[in-house]
Amino acid sequence: MVPSTTIAVVGGSLGGLTAALLLRDLGHDVTIYERSRHKLEQRGAGLGFLPDASRYLTERCGLDIDEISTRTDLIRYVNRDGSIGHERPTTYHFTSWFTVYGRLLAEFGTDRYLTGHEAVDFTVAESGARVDFADGSSVEADLLVCADGVNSIFRRSLLPDSQRRYAGYVAWRGMVPEAELSAKTRESLGDAITYAFYANSHILVYPIPSPDGSVDPGKRLINTVWYRNYREGGDFEDLMTDESGVRHDPTLPPGRARPEHVEEMRAHARARLPEAVAEAVVQAQEPFVQAVYDLEVDRMAFGRACLIGDAGFVMRPHAAAGTAKAAANAWGLAEALESATTIDEALAAWEPEQLRVGSDLVRRTQRLGYSSQVEGSWEAPTDDTLFRLRDEGP
Ligand SMILES: Cc1cc2nc3c(=O)[nH]c(=O)nc-3n(C[C@H](O)[C@H](O)[C@H](O)COP(=O)(O)OP(=O)(O)OC[C@H]3O[C@@H](n4cnc5c(N)ncnc54)[C@H](O)[C@@H]3O)c2cc1C
Repeated sequence: MVPSTTIAVVGGSLGGLTAALLLRDLGHDVTIYERSRHKLEQRGAGLGFLPDASRYLTERCGLDIDEISTRTDLIRYVNRDGSIGHERPTTYHFTSWFTVYGRLLAEFGTDRYLTGHEAVDFTVAESGARVDFADGSSVEADLLVCADGVNSIFRRSLLPDSQRRYAGYVAWRGMVPEAELSAKTRESLGDAITYAFYANSHILVYPIPSPDGSVDPGKRLINTVWYRNYREGGDFEDLMTDESGVRHDPTLPPGRARPEHVEEMRAHARARLPEAVAEAVVQAQEPFVQAVYDLEVDRMAFGRACLIGDAGFVMRPHAAAGTAKAAANAWGLAEALESATTIDEALAAWEPEQLRVGSDLVRRTQRLGYSSQVEGSWEAPTDDTLFRLRDEGP
């Protein structure tokens, strides 16, 4: 086992927190540096919750998966007239970013979770790494874990040729309390993950915990994720620009979409989506937008630094595996540090499997995106369309 060492984790979302907890459990001296000034309370969006993503909370904290997530036992595809096109018995769990973040942060504590620390520069050497922050402070550590997401400053500097590519579509996202929907809609959307497809578009609808964590039917939220194509070089830039002219990327946060875009989106929902699905979309207050990107890397370890989560690969969301991949990167790192005697040996052992899982996922989710948003060939649930992290299983 690598002897106790100083570890800086930059980025305190789900990937950074999981890594920090696992490395601290091994006896290392771990601090998280997070750019946001406040605890990240606003990110309420729903997540498909795969076993790797829930593993720390279930295995190490002893939580029951049904306490922290909703569950559906059916995948249902509905036609425009509301009739059922396909049904497949499959169990999924869903949660919200906020539910998982709150649990992980409670476990890690706030003493070593330093908010208001935006990394702006760094150096990585054979024996350690140094990170400089926007407030003029800096830190030195034996190991640097870069968990700073899709726009990672570390990746941009270490791998300047690895550029993210806009996939040609975004996800319009919304959440509405189940209790605010009509009884008919509640009934038709509450027990399944519901998909609806039409030309060059598809939408997913599933229940997630309420903001106070309740998973009881009737108290949950209904979460919608609607993939819509916006051409780069005009439509896309216009959508992502708010009323004060600020361009957002990759997320146009709640409350920032311009009224004309929200109105167009709601009118389109009424015109093209099954009635119950359209009701959930239209009722959601403050819908927001996440742009869809692909990004592949061919390295994740650099001297005493490594990239995890979206700081490494970014894939389209169709496998619901982003947080599971971030967590799997963290579990792999902890296992490597436990088996090896030096950090260098551990990173060398860790990297190949992370690269394999990341590039398999990018390829699979590109295929799914192409078949739904371009080709129109995704018509029924198959094994390939199931949510999962690895090609060979969950
Ligand atoms: C439409 C859509 C739907 C999705 N659905 C799912 C799903 O169903 N299931 C799922 O598992 N995943 C899903 N994902 C993917 C998932 O959201 C991401 O893969 C996951 O959040 C990545 O976690 P992360 O910790 O690596 O990065 P992030 O969550 O992006 O966190 C990065 C953190 O780093 C901080 N940071 C950034 N820059 C700096 C800096 N310079 N200094 C310090 N801190 C910094 C940020 O503030 C942030 O807290 C979806 C994504 C999209 C776009």
